Amino acid sequence: MAATAHSEIRVDRSLCMGSGQCCWYAPNTFDQDDETIAIVTDPQGDPEEAIRSAVSGCPTGALSIVENEAE
Ligand code: SF4
Repeated sequence: MAATAHSEIRVDRSLCMGSGQCCWYAPNTFDQDDETIAIVTDPQGDPEEAIRSAVSGCPTGALSIVENEAE
């Protein structure tokens, strides 16, 4: 399996409610800042599957993946 197919992960800070679920699914990719808003610490920190689970598991839809068009 290819490590990562995406090129970027975006966090919509106005949507994030700080549930921390993304950090649970992909702890090496996401963290939370002082306001408990999610931040991306390493866009390739976890297996693609874990990152996609984090993105789809976000309760507010604050996370999105920008696909790499050069696949
Ligand atoms: S799962 Fe979504 S709402 Fe929860 S901290 Fe991560 S980005 Fe924010």
